[in-house]
Amino acid sequence: MMKIEGRKGGNIDLEEKFLSAITRQPKRRSGIHVTALREECMKMSYLYHVKESPDFKPNKKNLLTFWIGRELHKTPILAQNELILDWNGILGSCDDYENGVLVDKKTCTSIPSQAKDQDARQVEYYALMLKKRGKIVNRVYILYIDINNKDFVFHRVKVRPYDEIEAEMISKRDILQKAKETGVIPPRTLNWKCKYCYHRFECLNEKELENLEYREIDYELNREK
Ligand code: SF4
Repeated sequence: MMKIEGRKGGNIDLEEKFLSAITRQPKRRSGIHVTALREECMKMSYLYHVKESPDFKPNKKNLLTFWIGRELHKTPILAQNELILDWNGILGSCDDYENGVLVDKKTCTSIPSQAKDQDARQVEYYALMLKKRGKIVNRVYILYIDINNKDFVFHRVKVRPYDEIEAEMISKRDILQKAKETGVIPPRTLNWKCKYCYHRFECLNEKELENLEYREIDYELNREK
């Protein structure tokens, strides 16, 4: 820890002050958030996003990554920035909107060749929520900002039919809402994110854990198609 002497005596712990400043964030609205719905596995979403006291303890690297992402989102690109959305018990905040164009920003350490599935789902959910508010949405993009190589790309997302998106959102909302009320963890869905999941060691059996490497290769190959 880096301690320096204060003007009136006593030590100031600069590292501690910095880490607590970047951890501070506005109080989250209570409800089911789009960031929880965008995942494939509702067990993971429940454990990360919905459970009152998450087991996830971010380390210094996680804290810095979250902070950089949060700060980058604050830069407005289009006329309306950080639009607060609320529909049918689902909450969200879409980054930028103007004249039928929706943009969501994502920080990354290498730019994907196309929009990632969960990012595409997230903007589809925002598009639907905007439409429910009477806004026109005809083009949807994800802006990937590579913080390692200092580069950026806009990937366009082809939005699925809105009735399909709506049914998916409602079904996931109901699963998470029920889990929230009963405390019963929802069923898992194995997916490529298992290899990053904080709960993988208690969730997966030995064979499934062994297979994670193959899942990663399969996923990367699929993304390149
Ligand atoms: S390890 Fe995979 S299946 Fe288990 S909770 Fe995490 S994402 Fe879901």
